[in-house]
Amino acid sequence: MRAEVIAIGDELTGGQRLDTNSQWLSQQFALLGVSVTHHTTVGDDHDAIVDVLATACRRSALVLVSGGLGPTADDLTRQAIAALTGRPLVQDDQSLEYIRGLFARRGRPMPEQNIIQACFPEGSRPIANVEGTAPGIHVTLDGPGGTPVDLFALPGVPAELKPMWQATVAPAIAARLGAARRVIQQREIRCFGAGESDIESRLPDLIRRGRDPLVGITASEATITLRVTAEGATCAECEAKIAPTVATIYNCLGSLVFGENDTQLQDAVCDLLADRGAVVATAEWGTAGLVSSWLGGARRAATAFRGGLIVQDLPALTRWLGFDVNTKPPSPPDPPRYVAQMARAVRERFNTDYGLAVGPCPDSESAGQVHLAVAARGDTIGESFTFAAHPAIQRHRCAKQALNLLRLSILERRI
Ligand code: ATP
Ligand code: MG
Repeated sequence: MRAEVIAIGDELTGGQRLDTNSQWLSQQFALLGVSVTHHTTVGDDHDAIVDVLATACRRSALVLVSGGLGPTADDLTRQAIAALTGRPLVQDDQSLEYIRGLFARRGRPMPEQNIIQACFPEGSRPIANVEGTAPGIHVTLDGPGGTPVDLFALPGVPAELKPMWQATVAPAIAARLGAARRVIQQREIRCFGAGESDIESRLPDLIRRGRDPLVGITASEATITLRVTAEGATCAECEAKIAPTVATIYNCLGSLVFGENDTQLQDAVCDLLADRGAVVATAEWGTAGLVSSWLGGARRAATAFRGGLIVQDLPALTRWLGFDVNTKPPSPPDPPRYVAQMARAVRERFNTDYGLAVGPCPDSESAGQVHLAVAARGDTIGESFTFAAHPAIQRHRCAKQALNLLRLSILERRI
């Protein structure tokens, strides 16, 4: 069954806001086994909306519209659906009660123009909205060849649209699909430490079009994600297809794999630390607190991350490390030695099992060396990387390399 998604709003066509609703809705359709063939974006123009709706209803059995259900003059979705179906807008007393009640609970009278939000094209069904005032609209039309077309209109506010999809729209679509329903399952395997093509070459012809399950590879700021997707009649059937492929990926990539799905490097690091009852502290020279900010936001940060030092200035660092600037002038400074010293010092000062230190980042697009160090009881290991990346992503790359060095140090018991 074909579906399409329409996003309505001048702020979308005008470029002020990115249409994230269509992205999310397509992901949800995929989970129901329905592929989306078109995304259309249209401004707040009545005739243009009617035109886009008519085209969609000719092509697809499922049409999902977001936006334009508000009470203001530029919200035209309900009027456009009424024009498309040739049915008048009629007031639904129950919806009006609900909207009035919402305003009453907020201690405000309902403005007259909100009455329109309780009006629906004759024969359509309101879709309950527990997060906001505008109910959605579900209307079933006759499509080409007598196939019914289910048109759903939801408010543009993502926090309203998502629960409405989950509570009402997805079950209605699943019911329509009935026995023809297919399930799509996905597992994402996340890797760090090698490039995209390097990772592909380590895998035995997994990334082949038409393979079942399908394996896709994407790179984002040096994190490589392998997405394994299977389609079947049940979740169990999909899982059974996915499991052997995932096992092959783990076997071929070893410690390049740091986690699955939403796991970030910092989550993987905190998991490893927390599982071992260990704690880390950080000292950052070139990453301005990025490593500690990421660690602080990780799932098990409370047990695994104790704190850190952020420094941008060599004399300040020198004083912190306990060197006397006057008697030991750091000129020329020896970055690897400094960074190793930072890792030891931060471990000692914060009384942790590990100290992780990042040296200065190169501040231009030209290639430069970054020095990293991990200190543990009795040993410190250092590593240097050469980077030639755009300054905007330089810090992210350094921070990820630092987290990865710590991850491998713990995992491979290098120290
Ligand atoms: P409201 O009752 O809040 O007016 P509405 O259905 O009229 O709801 P819009 O006015 O189109 O929705 O948009 C309301 C909010 O939702 C705005 O902040 C808008 O930028 C955001 N929004 C609308 N469409 C999208 C979209 N496709 N992706 C992401 N955000 C969106
Ligand atoms: Mg609006």
